[in-house]
Amino acid sequence: MNRTRVVVLGAGIIGAACARELSRAGFDVVVVDRGHPAGGTTSHGEGNVLVSDKGPGAELELAKLSALLWPRVVAEIADEDASAASAIEYDPKGGIVVATTGEGTGALAAFAEAQAAAGIRAEPLSPKELAIAEPALTRAVTAAFHYPEDAQVQPAGAALALLGSALRHGARLRAGTEVVGAIVRNGRITGVRVPGGRIEADVVVNAAGPWAGQVSARLGAPIAVRPRRGEVLVTTPMPGVVRHKVYDADYVGAVGADSGDLQTSAVVESTWAGTVLIGSSRRRVGFDDAIRPEVLSAIAVKALRLFPALADVAVMRAYGGFRPYVDDHLPVLGEDPRLANLWHATGHEGAGIGLSVGTARLLRELLTGTEPAMEVEEFTVDRPAVLAEVAA
Ligand SMILES: Cc1cc2nc3c(=O)[nH]c(=O)nc-3n(C[C@H](O)[C@H](O)[C@H](O)COP(=O)(O)OP(=O)(O)OC[C@H]3O[C@@H](n4cnc5c(N)ncnc54)[C@H](O)[C@@H]3O)c2cc1C
Repeated sequence: MNRTRVVVLGAGIIGAACARELSRAGFDVVVVDRGHPAGGTTSHGEGNVLVSDKGPGAELELAKLSALLWPRVVAEIADEDASAASAIEYDPKGGIVVATTGEGTGALAAFAEAQAAAGIRAEPLSPKELAIAEPALTRAVTAAFHYPEDAQVQPAGAALALLGSALRHGARLRAGTEVVGAIVRNGRITGVRVPGGRIEADVVVNAAGPWAGQVSARLGAPIAVRPRRGEVLVTTPMPGVVRHKVYDADYVGAVGADSGDLQTSAVVESTWAGTVLIGSSRRRVGFDDAIRPEVLSAIAVKALRLFPALADVAVMRAYGGFRPYVDDHLPVLGEDPRLANLWHATGHEGAGIGLSVGTARLLRELLTGTEPAMEVEEFTVDRPAVLAEVAA
């Protein structure tokens, strides 16, 4: 039996998914979080599991792997605990991406064509098909594609279900325990320091989300993961009005933009509870968590262009969070070249919920010396965007 001791640093969805995979493989796992499970970014985002917003490349391959794994993971957890599985609220509802300008039409069609070549189902919708699929959507749409492989989960429910499964497989949780430093012997990390003590480990996995940059600096091997702020509006329940994940094709450009200035695009979806989540914004403002009315207005204006019916609906609340951002927009997965046995599993930006289960599977494969399900070179720690110096 593999009794390698692993400290998973962070009990967000990435840490939870990693803890589950590793404990199922027989690793002796301790999950350490300074707060509560799913108390970080995982409970401050939406739960889209998307292939539609990623162009061909490593991130899309990870999205495909994750899309394949999600229903299996849900079924496995259902065998252990049916109510935990139902709290994941896994819904393979599909996504619809629309263009509303002539320029956007060409860009969306070219994007969909490239994705189809990479094995993604991207199906053009006629105006009639679109009206049937989304009756409340504006008719002022110049092109639309249906992505049947897009899905949705409830992020905090999913993270807690993954963590619960890890605990059933022997993992232990130390909530309310802040990691303040590393124990290093002969150039290897052999554990982490926590207030008043230490936790010994053979392997440490940094899954601290937007704080992964700060945490890695504390461990002596800084990586350039920074927060990218996002806000979401939540309406009162209006079941059946928005049926798919629907977004404007300009969202893909906002995701990939390098500017720290405000980017907004219309991203709309309903939840099992009937509420509608309206996003999205992107800003680099450090860890400033103030909700800005002008950002909410900009999001709402764009969403209303897609769904005019939302104009009469009450907004119940707004919230925001920090995406774990890396300059080249790719996750970080692998062993740190500067400190042996320190691994990073982070930097998923606005896709960490969806990508969590694929990331965890790859981590398990890498740690057990199994052939990974996909090539992981593009996620390596040893790349300029990750090892870049970041001002504190
Ligand atoms: C507005 C918004 C919308 C989003 N929508 C989507 C979406 O639709 N689909 C999608 O896939 N993703 C989405 N995301 C992104 C997604 O939420 C993140 O990629 C994901 O939650 C990251 O998970 P994580 O486990 O890496 O980080 P977190 O959930 O932040 O977990 C990190 C944990 O580390 C802990 N920690 C930090 N420092 C320490 C320390 N020193 N010691 C101990 N513990 C520590 C924290 O307490 C925290 O619990 C969205 C994000 C935002 C902000």
